[in-house]
Amino acid sequence: MKKLNFDKHFIDLFENSTDLIHLSDVNGSIIKANPAWLNTLGYSKEEVLGEDILSFIHPDYREEYKHHRDGVIKSNSTVLITFRFLGKNGAEIFSDGQLGCFFEDGRALYTRGVFKNFKNADKRGLENNESRLKDFLNSAPSAVIIANQEQEILEWNPKAEAVFGFAANEVMGESLSQIIIPHNYREAHAQGMKHFLLTGEGPVLNKTIEITALHRNGHIFPINLSISAVKEDEQWLFIAFISDISSQKLLQEEVIKKEAELLQSKLLDEKKDEFLSMASHELRTPLTSLKAYIQILSTSVSPEVKGYKFVSSAGTHILRLEKLINDLLDVSKIKAGKVAYTMFQFWFNDVLNDCVEVMQLTTKTHKIIIEKSTPVLLFGDSLRLEQVINNLLSNAVKYSPAASRILVKSEREGNNLLVSIKDFGIGIAAENREKLFERFYRVENNSSKYQGLGIGLYLSFDIIKRHNGSIWVESEPDQGTTFYFKLPVADNQNIAQTDTATSGKI
Ligand code: ADP
Repeated sequence: MKKLNFDKHFIDLFENSTDLIHLSDVNGSIIKANPAWLNTLGYSKEEVLGEDILSFIHPDYREEYKHHRDGVIKSNSTVLITFRFLGKNGAEIFSDGQLGCFFEDGRALYTRGVFKNFKNADKRGLENNESRLKDFLNSAPSAVIIANQEQEILEWNPKAEAVFGFAANEVMGESLSQIIIPHNYREAHAQGMKHFLLTGEGPVLNKTIEITALHRNGHIFPINLSISAVKEDEQWLFIAFISDISSQKLLQEEVIKKEAELLQSKLLDEKKDEFLSMASHELRTPLTSLKAYIQILSTSVSPEVKGYKFVSSAGTHILRLEKLINDLLDVSKIKAGKVAYTMFQFWFNDVLNDCVEVMQLTTKTHKIIIEKSTPVLLFGDSLRLEQVINNLLSNAVKYSPAASRILVKSEREGNNLLVSIKDFGIGIAAENREKLFERFYRVENNSSKYQGLGIGLYLSFDIIKRHNGSIWVESEPDQGTTFYFKLPVADNQNIAQTDTATSGKI
């Protein structure tokens, strides 16, 4: 291979390089500048050779350039620098590259600069960066504030205007601390800044913290704050991302308040249940004795005697009291999951007919009409289902004082039995129907007119649920109410009714 003439080839490289190359002596006089350098800056060779390189550097960068040049001469090193050349007619040429020094026999001979020409492309690039930054600041969903290490505000985006109430032009150059930091945190903030500038340690940097801030109108509000610090030209810049979390906080407080209220009402409920269970047990003991005495009295007083009527009326009231106490006891048992069910097979129509017959004895104002009572065998607790029917019938009488009829129907619907009890009374408005089966619920505007405790439907609901059935209501205010319940029928329906002991155990 033919040996290359390096001088010739290096000159070729120097002449044809697209990079800007210059050599200058240790005092800064230009020794050589390649065509790319001359063309980019717009000078001829004659105009630059022997001239001070600094006169071709933009005044803003001369000090820095000189500082780096002295550095490479002193330490025989190379530095990467970004700066601007000053072309003919004052043109600014953005450039970056490296500055080094050539040594011979331990002596600095000349400095060498090899730079890229960013004249067009990168000037645009920087402008683009700036406009991209502006776009970002304008559209950022958080408040973005940029401040220098003196805490002077350099950027304040539209969201910051919305969050803090200050327009950007009011705060530019102002002290960040005076603008947004509440008075009681300013000292700590100043100390923190001092510490950071001395040590580079910033415990609040690069994480999101919850803190309070000051609004233009003087009110203090909660924010999420995250700050990052970047160093530019030996100066720290702080970029803060801030979001106002007032509404979030309010929501949290609301949730906490609600939870506290819920807990309180739960505790109160527990106390009520405890009381209910204790009170109903306590009431039952004297009631049992009272009932026994009245029974003895009623058998020992003959119907002709004057006091017989009172004894018999006392007996009726005692039965009512007993039912009330038993219902209360049931409520506390349901809560404790202690209701015992005795399940067996029975003819439901018999139970229904009996209930209607007994209820009819208690009312002279209403006629209870059984429209249909299909013979159906059920598997369940007949006494508990009796309790449901009695409750619905007594409600139908109670809540229809101006009516005279109650219609009862019981029929097969596939594998279910559908029972309905219809009255023509005061009805129930739609908004009151949802809570009807809740414990102690009573429709408010009726509660003072009609006696009751609001537990009958609650118990009925539980009983029907325990029989795998469902219960619901249809009603029209001032027109009347129909309660329905549906229960699954027993499997062996083809047993003839007469073969079975009605309402008895099988
Ligand atoms: P109570 O009748 O002792 O208040 P219930 O649990 O049996 O308790 O009934 C709950 C509430 O439902 C009643 O207070 C009443 O407002 C309403 N309600 C129940 N049955 C009827 C009905 N047939 N007509 C109108 N309202 C009724």
